[in-house]
Amino acid sequence: MGIRALAAVGLGRLAHWGLRTLARRPASQLPGRVALAIDPHVMERLARKLRQGSIVVCGTNGKTTTTNLLADAIELTGRRVLCNREGANMAAGVATSLLQGSWADWAVIEADELSTIHIVPALKPSYLVLLNLFRDQLDRAGEIDHVQDVLVRALASSPNTVLVTCGDDPLCAGVALRARQAGTKVIAFGVGEDLGLAPDRVLEAGFCQVCGDRLAYEYRSYAQLGAFRCPRGDFSRPDLDFMATNVRLSHEGITLKVDGGGDTAVFDVRFGGPYMVYNVLAAYVAAALARVDASTFQRSLDVFDPHNGRLQHFRIGGREVILNLAKNPTGFNQNLALLCADPSPKSVYVVVNDNYNDGKDISWIWDVDFERLGHEAKASQVMVGGHRANDLQVRMKYAGISAPIVEDASEALSMIGSLSSDMPLYLLCNYSALSPTKKELEALAEPSAQGEPDLPNCPDSASQPKSKVVVSPCSRKHADHKLVIAHLYPELLNLYGDSGNILCLRKRIEWRGMEAEVREVGVGDLPSFAGVDLVFIGGGSDREQRIVCDYLLAQRAELSAYVEDGGVLAAVCGGYQLLGESYLMGDEKVQGLSLVDLYTDRGTPRIIGNIAVQSGISSQPIVGYENHGGRTHLGPDVSPLGRVLHGHGNDATSGYEGCLYKNVLGTYIHGPLLPKNPDVADWLISRALERHYGYAELEPLDDLVELAANRTMTERLLT
Ligand code: GLN
Repeated sequence: MGIRALAAVGLGRLAHWGLRTLARRPASQLPGRVALAIDPHVMERLARKLRQGSIVVCGTNGKTTTTNLLADAIELTGRRVLCNREGANMAAGVATSLLQGSWADWAVIEADELSTIHIVPALKPSYLVLLNLFRDQLDRAGEIDHVQDVLVRALASSPNTVLVTCGDDPLCAGVALRARQAGTKVIAFGVGEDLGLAPDRVLEAGFCQVCGDRLAYEYRSYAQLGAFRCPRGDFSRPDLDFMATNVRLSHEGITLKVDGGGDTAVFDVRFGGPYMVYNVLAAYVAAALARVDASTFQRSLDVFDPHNGRLQHFRIGGREVILNLAKNPTGFNQNLALLCADPSPKSVYVVVNDNYNDGKDISWIWDVDFERLGHEAKASQVMVGGHRANDLQVRMKYAGISAPIVEDASEALSMIGSLSSDMPLYLLCNYSALSPTKKELEALAEPSAQGEPDLPNCPDSASQPKSKVVVSPCSRKHADHKLVIAHLYPELLNLYGDSGNILCLRKRIEWRGMEAEVREVGVGDLPSFAGVDLVFIGGGSDREQRIVCDYLLAQRAELSAYVEDGGVLAAVCGGYQLLGESYLMGDEKVQGLSLVDLYTDRGTPRIIGNIAVQSGISSQPIVGYENHGGRTHLGPDVSPLGRVLHGHGNDATSGYEGCLYKNVLGTYIHGPLLPKNPDVADWLISRALERHYGYAELEPLDDLVELAANRTMTERLLT
């Protein structure tokens, strides 16, 4: 090592020692940051000292568990392993781990997907394990296609790295296909049978990564994972080098058989959930590649206790309390599946923060099937908390659940104090909410002098917004009225919670005693707009938007007639861009529907963040989230939806957001748009009623919860 490298290592280690010993602070990032600032190549130099090699584990869900399990398994063979066990998974965190010593045989490193572009070229790992790709933190990633591109580029930087990936996930298989074409060796694992689980309501990535056609599934495990193939034959699940079968899932755990690497092994796992099948499988594959035998791997499973808030159990005041991380729709849906598998009645406390490491956009809570909490999961009390407690409360209301806001775990415990202690409490926390909640539970779980922890009094119920859904008696006179909503291409255009708009419209129509029918128009369907009262088009990644465009262009004449006749149409982000004459995708000018006089070009940087807009159609500022590369320009006869109070809107310079043309509303606002902006939802419904039934007055609803969520964001953004 040269002087610079020695200085980087020395000062990095000194920073580590100082932080831990003198300041008694965690030292998971700063030492690495110091070392990288002095020598940007320090990771590379330290990695060269590893005696046998390194394995990098990435993927949206399950990477901490898989990394730790894999590190344990290799350690059990007597080899020394460096591992960033606490999950500090960006470059500085990884550098900090590598600084720990040059004594290791292996480094097992958890890596954030976007950070692989720094970590893989430096470590040149023997294996890159890619677990899965789901929508997560799109405010960091922009669009999921970008995450795939980064992984492909990271692999290209290290030609000897073998990609070990989940063949069941079309998004991982898409990365594998491109990496293989560039010369990377790929090992695929997956589940070789139908697990018989209920599909999630909102599916992602169900389209061919090559031609965009809808994928056919022989069976699906969860989310988009399963045995898929494109009917055109250009893309399918790769042959599995390691395959799990005989999978038995129960509330207590999992058993599975794995064939691969010339071996057959059966594993017994004491913790459960379908996602864990894949984590265990991935960890085993990587362990086997690092020459860990199956019985050693089983021993590591036997003693595995994450102690990191992942399915961690506590006993507090005689009650079982189970803490788990849930940070994106797929993770949450998997947690809900676990709750449903536990047959006992239970209470549930959901905590969602929106710090940088959580992702600032929490629209995805509308893609979580919270509806399952009621009957299926037997949750008798649901509570919500965290920075976005108000949003969760609105989401729960639309799932038919009245969920009070509580501050923390101890308040949640006192809220359910009168319920039988046989009833467990499940806490589902997103990223930054997990660690403080875990600390709180650890403190509460320690018996106090009296033997039981002191829990604070119940929160003042008078201060909780009460939401009673009002169906006013006069609504009966419209009981025979029905509004038909056409939801165009929800499988492709449903970026982050856009389907929450449909749920919101449906409920607000039904709460007024009318019938709402939702017609989902899928790929291959020929939509007819006759008899339709409201059309909705959501947002999507560039790729998906491009696929939809051709389908929509075939409907152009019908849609245009509908719009000119005063048909109500709401379009969000990608859908909004499609309304115009054209939009730019990369350098390609894609023809739009020309329904409204507008066009969209591109700008950098991507516009990402919270937004608030003053609009004539809402008595509160319209609040939500924007995430777009496109810049939209309105023609002279098209009005904007409103004036931007916070954020960017159409083009970052005009100060305006969205468009209004006849009964068409276009907007960049996700969030989703309607639940927290009830006036906008009602504007659409009243326009539709007027066109169909000739009247536009709507009976007021009890919007306390919605308005509290709106106010919380408005105050945060505007004061
Ligand atoms: N792909 C489009 C853009 O980046 C729309 C994105 C979206 O719908 N959020 O501008």
